[in-house]
Amino acid sequence: MIKLPSALYVHIPFCEKICHYCDFPKLQYFRRFAFAYLESLKEELIHYQPYGLKTIYVGGGTPTALEDDLFKQLLNLLAPFSNGVKEYTFEANPESLSEEKIKLMHQYGVNRLSIGVQTTDDRLLKKLNRQHTFNDVQKAVKLLKDYGFDNLNVDLILGLPHTSQRLLAKDLDNILSLGIQHISCYALSLHPHTVLYNRGYRELSEDQMRDYYDTVEAVLTKHHFIHYEVSNYCLSGYECIHNYTYWRNEQYYGVGLGAAGYLGNIRYKNTLNLNKYLKNLFIDEKEQLQQHDRLVYQIMLNLRTLEGLSLIKLKADFGVDLYQDKKATIDDFINRKYLVLEDENLKPTYEGMMILDTIILKLI
Ligand code: SF4
Repeated sequence: MIKLPSALYVHIPFCEKICHYCDFPKLQYFRRFAFAYLESLKEELIHYQPYGLKTIYVGGGTPTALEDDLFKQLLNLLAPFSNGVKEYTFEANPESLSEEKIKLMHQYGVNRLSIGVQTTDDRLLKKLNRQHTFNDVQKAVKLLKDYGFDNLNVDLILGLPHTSQRLLAKDLDNILSLGIQHISCYALSLHPHTVLYNRGYRELSEDQMRDYYDTVEAVLTKHHFIHYEVSNYCLSGYECIHNYTYWRNEQYYGVGLGAAGYLGNIRYKNTLNLNKYLKNLFIDEKEQLQQHDRLVYQIMLNLRTLEGLSLIKLKADFGVDLYQDKKATIDDFINRKYLVLEDENLKPTYEGMMILDTIILKLI
C-alpha cells in the first residue's frame, strides 16, 4: 500500500523588515502581493489535496506579517486540511504576534508556536534590524499562555556579532525564564549578499562556536532540556513531530515560494521567483531519487536525532547491512564515544552531533 505524506510545510515569504543576516526566501511585505500570493497558494493546495495530515508547519518569512484579514484567509485556506492534525505550528515574530492573531490561531486549531527571538539583547536586536525587544517576547509568550498555548519554541542564533559568553548566558537565562518547552539553536551563517557580511562581519571559527555550543548544552541539560536533534532541545514529550518527518526521511508536501517537498521518489524545490509563483509555475527543480540517494538521505537525516538510525530498517528498506559493511569505522566511532549502538539503533552522542558531517561522510 502506498503511504501518503502526513506532513505539510507552507511557506509565507513576507517580512515587514529584512534582518541584516537573513538568507531565507523572503520578500518585503506588500498587501497586494500577499493577496495574490494566497490565491496561488490556494491553487497549489488544490493541486496536492493534502488530506490525512498529521502535522502542518507554517513557516517563513514571517507568517504573522500578514494583516489580520489575510492571516485569517490563510487559516481558512488550510482549514480543510487541518482537521485531526496532531501538531499545527505557526512561526511568528514577537512584534506581529497580536492578540487578534493569537485568537484566530486558537480558533483554527493551531497548537504550537515557534517564535523568532534570536537574542534577548535589545541593542543587538536593533543592530540586526530585528523589530522586537525582549519585552515584546515576554508579552507575546504571556498572551499565548493566557490562550492556552503550551507548546512553544524559541529560536536562538549562536555566534552573532558582538556576542560573548556573558551575553549567551544572559540569553539562556532570559529564555528559560519564559517557561517554554522547546529551544532551537542555530549557528549564524553569513552569506555574501547579507548586510552583516557586507559590513565585514564573518562567522566565528569552529573552536569559538564549539565553546558556545558547550555553554548551551551545559545550561539547557541542567534545566532538563533534552538535546534530541543537532540544533534542537526540548522538555520531555515536546519533540517537534513535524520536523521528525524530515529527520526520519519520510515524505512531505511543501507549498509556497521556495518550499521543498518530497513525494514518491522525487524531491522538489519550488521557485524563488514571485512572478513565476504568481503565474502558478510552482516547481523549479526536481531530483529523481535512485535507491542509493534514498539510502544516503536516510543515513544523513536519521543520524541527526537521538532516535538515531535503525540498522534493521536500513536492511529491510535497502538490503544494506551497514554495521557489517562499515564495522571498523562504526566500532571506532563507538569507542571514541561519538556514537552509541542501542537495540540496533545507531545514535549520536553530543560529541557525535558536533562532528556529524565527518561521521556521515565516513558512513556513506
Ligand atoms: S524575519 Fe526571518 S525571514 Fe524575515 S528577514 Fe528576518 S530572518 Fe529573514
